[in-house]
Amino acid sequence: MAHIIAHPGGRFRLPLLDMGRRLLSRAGGDCPLCGARVAGARLCPGCQADILAAPPGAGARCPRCALRLQAGGSACAACLARPRAFCRTVAAFDYAPPADTLILMLKTQLRLSMAPVLARLMADALMADVLRAEVLRAEGAHALSPPGLLLVPVPASRASLRQRGMNPASEIARSLAVELALPPPRHLLTRRRDTPRQATLDRRARQQGTAGLFVCPHPLLGRHVAVVDDVMTTGSTADAAAAALLAAGAASVTVLVAARTP
Ligand SMILES: [Zn+2]
Ligand SMILES: [Zn+2]
Repeated sequence: MAHIIAHPGGRFRLPLLDMGRRLLSRAGGDCPLCGARVAGARLCPGCQADILAAPPGAGARCPRCALRLQAGGSACAACLARPRAFCRTVAAFDYAPPADTLILMLKTQLRLSMAPVLARLMADALMADVLRAEVLRAEGAHALSPPGLLLVPVPASRASLRQRGMNPASEIARSLAVELALPPPRHLLTRRRDTPRQATLDRRARQQGTAGLFVCPHPLLGRHVAVVDDVMTTGSTADAAAAALLAAGAASVTVLVAARTP
């Protein structure tokens, strides 16, 4: 069953799998960080408060790319210097200890049970963002409405699919669809080519390396799309995904990530 859940193309989707995912997310378990008994696929309240807390001195997030703004202001320097194809990013937590352990459990230890834990944190962050946007709507803020949102995971490279046998972004997106009561995610993006491992590239090389990385061969006719990924580092992968989705006719592209590199 595991390899069916992990199928990168999602072609073997069965209602049963979603039902299983729903049951798993509600069943009792242990907090993945401290081992305390918890109800459902989640962290204990203490660990959750720890990972959601802003680092000392850190400010609000850049609304476009979710980077922590150290010096205040309405957007980060990178977003001000270079427009992004996506209009907003919602990140559940910063990619820093101890929260990075949750991502590594999924990506390195291949613990698929981390997907619903991350998805729940992301759903909470999204709902908080929607509430904030509704409060700010009078000021013209972009409001994201989960009903009708199309979830699209960032496709994994062929090399990492071979290595892991699954795409962490797809796993998170499937659990997120269950959390938000949305239809199953759609695998609409195709990689045009495989790039060198992102972790070995500097910021500029990443941006150049990801331009035109994806293509969306399906017309999106005004749909509001949310790109789902595990971690956002520079935003260049999400930018390439958003550019492909906008080129296919999406009305807007938001990015939902579990973690943002501070
Ligand atoms: Zn805990
Ligand atoms: Zn930004």
